[in-house]
Amino acid sequence: MDRREFWKRTVGTTLSIGSLNQLEAFAQEFPRSEPMPALFLGHGNPMNALQENRFVQGFRSMEKTIPKPKAILCISAHWFTRGTKVTAMKTPRTIHDFGGFPKALHEFQYPAPGSPQLAETAARLAPEAPAEVDQSWGLDHGAWTVLTHLYPAADVPVVQMSLDRTKSAEFHFDLGRRLDVLRHHGILVVGSGNIVHNLGLIDFRNIDRPNHGFDWAFEAQNFVNRQLADGDYAPLIDYSNQGRALKLAVPTPDHYLPLLYVLGLKHTSDQLKLFNNELLGGSLSMTSVRLG
Ligand code: ZN
Repeated sequence: MDRREFWKRTVGTTLSIGSLNQLEAFAQEFPRSEPMPALFLGHGNPMNALQENRFVQGFRSMEKTIPKPKAILCISAHWFTRGTKVTAMKTPRTIHDFGGFPKALHEFQYPAPGSPQLAETAARLAPEAPAEVDQSWGLDHGAWTVLTHLYPAADVPVVQMSLDRTKSAEFHFDLGRRLDVLRHHGILVVGSGNIVHNLGLIDFRNIDRPNHGFDWAFEAQNFVNRQLADGDYAPLIDYSNQGRALKLAVPTPDHYLPLLYVLGLKHTSDQLKLFNNELLGGSLSMTSVRLG
């Protein structure tokens, strides 16, 4: 088999010569590995970065069960752009994309390096490739508030891929599938969002009450979890036509779509496991998913 045919079979599509060269350079820096797991992490409150609670304990215990990745590709709810972009700087800055939190959170640094090699490759895997290679973003709080619990030493390179706000849910699921080759080269793909995420309806008076959810939030959580257990993702891709509970749970797509990337990465042989499966403040779920 020649190299063109090899990579065509590996990534499931015919590649331009530029993309072929890029993938071969990538495979030199990131040798082939057993398939890495993939994660969807419910990130919730940015204060989780500094706090000790059952959710960050959940992140840590899950990390102990997976091989240390060579690099991370993070799809964060908080980078919602026109067109798909990929961060390609060597030293991404820590972005404090929020207001009104304690000084310690505004000063928090997560100095993980970037990986221009991974960024160029991820950009080549996108439909309408190559996606835009970005030098201005960095790591937003969707990435660092959770990654700091998985890899506190910030010694694993991190690249972010943005969510193209102009595209359909099918597009995002399909882009997840296209990233599969990364799993075979030691890359951990992390989607960071929240499946139930309606901040306008948060019940702040009861924010500390464990597993406090409105009826519709439990209904949405149960619906999504059932589809995940059954491996039936079509209704999850078609989430906007699943009735009132899902409409309330997903008032805007940004926090939901990272889940679809992770589902797109599932191999038939992969197990899928939920953790941090809890509602908070009535209208927010911390449910996180590990596959593989
Ligand atoms: Zn968020």
